[in-house]
Amino acid sequence: KLPAIKGNIHFEDIVFEYEKDRPALRGINLKVRAGQSVALVGHTGSGKSTIINLLCRFYDPVQGSVILDGHDIRDVTIESLRSQVGIVLQDTFIFSGTIRDNIRFGKLNATDEEVEAAAKAVHAHDFIVNLPQGYDTEVQERGNVLSMGQRQLLSFARALLADPRVLILDEATASIDTETELKIQEALKTLLQGRTSFIIAHRLSTIRSCDNIVVLDHGRIMETGNHDQL
Ligand code: ATP
Ligand code: MG
Repeated sequence: KLPAIKGNIHFEDIVFEYEKDRPALRGINLKVRAGQSVALVGHTGSGKSTIINLLCRFYDPVQGSVILDGHDIRDVTIESLRSQVGIVLQDTFIFSGTIRDNIRFGKLNATDEEVEAAAKAVHAHDFIVNLPQGYDTEVQERGNVLSMGQRQLLSFARALLADPRVLILDEATASIDTETELKIQEALKTLLQGRTSFIIAHRLSTIRSCDNIVVLDHGRIMETGNHDQL
């Protein structure tokens, strides 16, 4: 079991294959200090999601280790890992229920005040209060009450409430209007503050705001550096 973690992460000589002799990652070495944000970029099939899959222990590496604060994550219980590593998926998950329930999913015992404070912090409050029933508006899993950008902001509020030490974000590729995009960028800064984060980034503005950019190609790291260096 993990004590409260700091969020130092080290991918150490990672080799991984989903199918025999078809390596998806070939010798990944990456050290991320607690609190830093990393943008994972690269062509389709380059290994971005695979890195995330290993960090979440959806799979274990064939060779090498993922080290979290000095512990091989294989030696940590899944529950403990899941409680500290939060994921915001690309297809931002909305379930049938109220907006409030959807945000509170990040922390089930959160008060209404905490839910609203999280929504305010990520600039979701304004659009929520403009909905017919505000925070009590019912949304559907596949419904279209919410735009893609609004879904993203809701998922940010949920993640902020969950407050994980390590945040993983698979950025939506859908086009979003400029105003919402600006809100998302500001919200992202708030969300990344003080946690280690890995972002599968598609927007240039997101990539720019990360401390480190990791360029993957065919399962290898081709380049690392910040936006000015690359
Ligand atoms: P994208 O931008 O399309 O999401 P990605 O960079 O996330 O791409 P990965 O999903 O990590 O790429 O895929 C890396 C390699 O592993 C690819 O060759 C892919 O075909 C293969 N792969 C990914 N998932 C599986 C799987 N579940 N089973 C078999 N092979 C897989
Ligand atoms: Mg992917």
